[in-house]
Amino acid sequence: MKVAWFHKFGGPEVLVHEEAPKPAPKPGEALVRVRAVGINHVDIDHRAGTSRIPVEFPHILGREFAGEIAALNGEAAEFKEGDRVWITCRIPCRRCEFCLAGRDNLCVQEGYFGLDIPGGYAEYVCVPIANLNALPAHVRYEDAAAAQIAFGTAWHVLITRGFLQAGQSVLIQAAGSGIGSAAVQVAKLAGAAAIITTASSEKKLEHAKALGATHLINYSKENFAERVMEITGGRGVDVIMEHIGGEVFTRSLQCLARGGIIVTVGAHAGEVVEFDIIPFFRRELRLAGSKNASVLELRKVMALVADGKLKPIVHKAFPLAQAAEAHRVVESRDFFGKVILLP
Ligand SMILES: [Zn+2]
Repeated sequence: MKVAWFHKFGGPEVLVHEEAPKPAPKPGEALVRVRAVGINHVDIDHRAGTSRIPVEFPHILGREFAGEIAALNGEAAEFKEGDRVWITCRIPCRRCEFCLAGRDNLCVQEGYFGLDIPGGYAEYVCVPIANLNALPAHVRYEDAAAAQIAFGTAWHVLITRGFLQAGQSVLIQAAGSGIGSAAVQVAKLAGAAAIITTASSEKKLEHAKALGATHLINYSKENFAERVMEITGGRGVDVIMEHIGGEVFTRSLQCLARGGIIVTVGAHAGEVVEFDIIPFFRRELRLAGSKNASVLELRKVMALVADGKLKPIVHKAFPLAQAAEAHRVVESRDFFGKVILLP
């Protein structure tokens, strides 16, 4: 089978399109013919070797993918060969205290496609039968590959960790990113009264507006913290999704209303920040970390995608042979939505 993998860390050019043995499903597994796989920013970090997580070479990336069942090795009452499926991106142990509490995103021994086990940058992937989910005929493979992580994470951040309620105001940083554009849609679906979002260009802000953002801030031209306070009449917002880190995190804290909550879910711009404790307790602010979505949340958002209530945004789909070029696009940050590979 064809794969796009890398034999060493480095720039996009280390991602090479080569022949690899087709995997054979073990008992309890399905062989999936991958039709579309989403590129996540974490793929770039793993390829570049900056993720702080060791990987084995050659390494096959690809967390979220969709395709058809090519073979089944075990009981799968709901499924048969040829069925269209999307694959839950994580493999929780289903035994640890966090899995048993329904917080399987915190599983202490989970596996991840494209990290611990070979991912979707390949024509075929073996997956546990428990990870198969039916993909309705009207949902395109590339939309399924674009939806799971962006909407799942946005849902986990805003609804589960941020307790976002109808009528509240929300600040979503970097609407141009996959997770940012997904969060604008989730906030709208949740009934947020004000959806304030930031981006680096007017074009990205126009896209965010079309998805439901009510207030737009071009952070390359304006001080976003001052603008948020102007927009809210000095009150601040109830919920913030912050996934930039560094100074953006610190200044986001100044945009919170009394009793508001900031949920942090990324830190590419700086991992260690200054933190002023005094206003934090006097204003009863709250800070929550967010990892990624639980299996239940992933299924919930994918059902909303199938219902047309959440709309995946695909910037561009590349053939698998052009994986290096696709990574260059993601690294350029000059895109809106998700970049997809079609093995
Ligand atoms: Zn577990």
